[in-house]
Amino acid sequence: MECFDPDQVAVRSAHFIGGRYVEGSADTMDVKRPSDGLSYAGLPVADADLVDQAVQDSWHAFRSSNWARCAPRERARILRRWADLIDADVKTLAPLEATGSTRPVKDVATWDVPFTADGIRFFAEWADKIGGDVLPTRNDNLGMTIAEPYGVIGAIAPWNLPLVMGSWKVAPALAAGNAVVLKPSEMTPFSILRLAELAIEAGMPEGIFNIVQGDGRTTGDALCRHPRISKVTFTGSTRTGAAIMATCAEHGTKSVTLELGGKSPQVVFADLPDLEKTARTVARAITLNAGQVCVAGSRLIVQRAVADRFVERLCAIFAELKAGNTWDPGTTMSPIISKREMERIDGIVQRSVTEGARVVAGGCRIATGNEGAFYQPTLLSNVDSRMDAVKAEIFGPVITVQVFDDEEEALVLADHPEYGLAAGVHTADIGRALRMARGIEAGTVWINRYGRSSDYVIPTGGYKRSGIGKDLGRQAYEANLRFKSVLVDFAKNG
Ligand code: NAD
Repeated sequence: MECFDPDQVAVRSAHFIGGRYVEGSADTMDVKRPSDGLSYAGLPVADADLVDQAVQDSWHAFRSSNWARCAPRERARILRRWADLIDADVKTLAPLEATGSTRPVKDVATWDVPFTADGIRFFAEWADKIGGDVLPTRNDNLGMTIAEPYGVIGAIAPWNLPLVMGSWKVAPALAAGNAVVLKPSEMTPFSILRLAELAIEAGMPEGIFNIVQGDGRTTGDALCRHPRISKVTFTGSTRTGAAIMATCAEHGTKSVTLELGGKSPQVVFADLPDLEKTARTVARAITLNAGQVCVAGSRLIVQRAVADRFVERLCAIFAELKAGNTWDPGTTMSPIISKREMERIDGIVQRSVTEGARVVAGGCRIATGNEGAFYQPTLLSNVDSRMDAVKAEIFGPVITVQVFDDEEEALVLADHPEYGLAAGVHTADIGRALRMARGIEAGTVWINRYGRSSDYVIPTGGYKRSGIGKDLGRQAYEANLRFKSVLVDFAKNG
């Protein structure tokens, strides 16, 4: 993918309802490019009336179109065609995603777009796999469960990987036969519109996949409250997830899937298989998308015998990274989503330093001469678990280092009192690796690797305050179905 001019990227500032773009009201929000902080489009904000229109249209499409009723293989075929169109559209999608997000164009073209398309294919394959069960009732009765879609599912996505995160909300819901109304993040709202357009081209009935634009307080809240929304699938911060859960409890006892924040440990034992490879893995886990990833490995927990060598290598790898605009294919270090977020990240770093932390690498912003927000990959030592740097989700390129002597101590340090999203363990001892995997209270434990793979069969989701339910895997598909019990009595009279 070559360097491109972000001013030449056409952005459609609209909602997508009933299979077409719907231009917004005058009520717009400013959307900025993270790389240079320039406003590049206005975002229409859907109020409760427009959300109602989108949900009603969607409900109508769910009831009247063939989407839920057709043979599941036909639905799967349309979803696969959609995925193929997404792959073929990379030259449009990659600049669109890179312009408005923190994702460098090369990464979008080689990872985000194909990963999005392939994830849709994965869920398409589930469409005819789960229908329900026949149950062991008395002999003259037939008892069964029938899997059915919910109807209209409300989906709310975060800003950090707009296409991938958005599609993880939408694809399993659609594959299960639901209609969806998605609200993308107000900070990265545009690229997913192109996906909705391609869905229509692939043959998805109009009104089955809709997008309403706006902020959380106005649009997101109206979506969660709407009486025709029977389930909400959300990815975002733990705080918003809790607010959404409360709204869903109050307005219809709706089912929720919540993929929330994390503060994930990366535990490195002295018997690690390969120091260079592990250091690169650990570095990537905290610098990918400038640490703005829910599973960012933000706490390095390293055994004393290798600690100094490992930290030294990590800092050297940090120094190789090249911060730059997302439209430059040479960029390997993403911008922070906004100046405000960068200031929040720096605030946590500076407060920790006041509390006694030592800056081993980074520790300040990267000057750009414009409004772009970049932060140096940062490593803090001399920290303890009472500091925000160790406790709070920073969502930036900041890693703390804590040193341990034995396995029991590693386990105590790895455990976080609130979060339990993911963890990494690096050791050549399989017994130790499995003991750690059993012991760490987290939804995912990676051994001798870090990060999700393209094995979509492996579910992802959090323990504790990191969430409820799963994205990916069979579980993510199943969570978009509800099960009706049917009991037939065929006993002979008399
Ligand atoms: P956020 O919670 O601020 O916003 C997420 C979405 O919720 C946005 O679309 C926002 O407009 C909407 N929203 C906000 N308030 C709302 C309300 N009251 N009702 C309905 N919708 C509302 O999160 P963010 O800053 O966009 O994303 C970063 C967070 O997401 C981090 O905490 C990160 O860990 C988390 N995340 C988790 C996963 C995962 O799989 N567990 C993946 C990506 C991001």
